[in-house]
This record gives sequence, structure tokens and C-alpha cells, in this order.
Amino acid sequence: MANKESRGICIFCGEAFAKRSMTKHLTGCKKHQEVIETANTGKAKDETLYHLLIQDVYLKNFWLHLEMNGNAKLKKLDEYLRDIWLECCGHMSQFSIGGWGGDEIAMSKSAQSIFDRSSELVHIYDFGTSSETLIKVVGKRTGKPLSKHPIMLMARNEMPVVTCMECEQTARWLCSECIYEHDESGYLCDEHAKNHPHDNYGEPIELVNSPRMGMCGYEGPAEPPY
Ligand SMILES: [Zn+2]
Ligand SMILES: [Zn+2]
Ligand SMILES: [Zn+2]
Ligand SMILES: [Zn+2]
Repeated sequence: MANKESRGICIFCGEAFAKRSMTKHLTGCKKHQEVIETANTGKAKDETLYHLLIQDVYLKNFWLHLEMNGNAKLKKLDEYLRDIWLECCGHMSQFSIGGWGGDEIAMSKSAQSIFDRSSELVHIYDFGTSSETLIKVVGKRTGKPLSKHPIMLMARNEMPVVTCMECEQTARWLCSECIYEHDESGYLCDEHAKNHPHDNYGEPIELVNSPRMGMCGYEGPAEPPY
């Protein structure tokens, strides 16, 4: 999956773009502009809105473009990341500037108070089998939020295509025992998932669009909360 360029979908126009051109696309997307103009005719107060590029620190094919209200607390971003990518068993999490050993940032801080100071934050979920997420400010604007929620999903990577470890077919399943005990990818197609011999970690689980696949007890669903 490393050789194929990661693509994602713009939620405003529904079209697919390469990861490296999505920031530029969103800035110019006509449908996006229309939604902004409509929102700006509403009664909500103007605020600073941050365009965030979010990606897994190691698995860079998993990425999101979010717009976050400046007044919203970081806690809201933590909740969003848990819902769309991370939550398995209620582990602890934190934001920091500079990653591990960096300055921890309280969840009660507003997005604006942090992003005006630093354009990069790292989120760590689970201090055992950790998921690390990089949050980068790639733009900001003053205007009205596009929804009643503190965060708006603007784009998301398409599910990376991975191949079965037993054949060349597209994998849809993952065996954790293969990962933890046999040093294998654990990716399986429908056919090879059926008769797969391992069950120490349960049956193979269905692959979902999250960088936490195969970590701890993560099983999805990798759906955005809103
Ligand atoms: Zn678009
Ligand atoms: Zn867990
Ligand atoms: Zn197969
Ligand atoms: Zn296995």
C-alpha cells in the first residue's frame, strides 16, 4: 500500500483527490465556497476557524481534513479522533506540543489559544499500544462555522487497498494472532479468512478505515460521530 498514492474524498463535491493536492483543492472547491457563503448569511457569530490536516504519525495513508471552531475545546477534537479512528477500550489520551516528553496541553484549552501559539500538535491515545496522531494547521479563516458541531469533516482518505498474505486478492479481514505471534501482516481475503487456523485473539476482524487496525482490541467501526 506504500507505493500507491493515497487518495481521499472531498465531502463538498464528492470527488477524489490525491493526498498531496487535497489542501489546495479544498481551498478552491466551488461547492465548499458555496457552503461557506450560505453559512455566512446565518446568525451565528463570526469566529476563527482552523483548517486541520490530521494524519497518523506512522501510517500516513490515514488522514483527515477537519475544520475546527476556534472556541471549541481540545476535548472535542479528542472525542472526534476517538470516534472516527481510535476508541478500543477507553484508554487515556493527551495532546502535546513536541510529542512524547513534550509539553502536555490541557484538554480544556480552546483550539484558538493553542493553534495561535503552535501550528503542530501531537495526540497520543493509549500509553501502552499507542496511536500517535499529528495535527497540523494548514489554514484559517474568519467566518461562521459550517455546521452546529464544533468540528466539520471536510475530507478523508479512501480505505487503503491491501492484499491478502496468502494470495493476491484484496484483503478485507485481519488476523491479530498473525501480527502478534507470527510476524505476518495478518491481511486476509474473504476466502482465506474463512479457513484461517488462528483463534487465540478471536476470529479475523473486518478491516475498517482506521490506523488503529490490529492494535489492542480495536475493531472499528471507524465512523465519524457527525
Ligand atoms: Zn471539493
Ligand atoms: Zn484497547
Ligand atoms: Zn487470499
Ligand atoms: Zn492468523
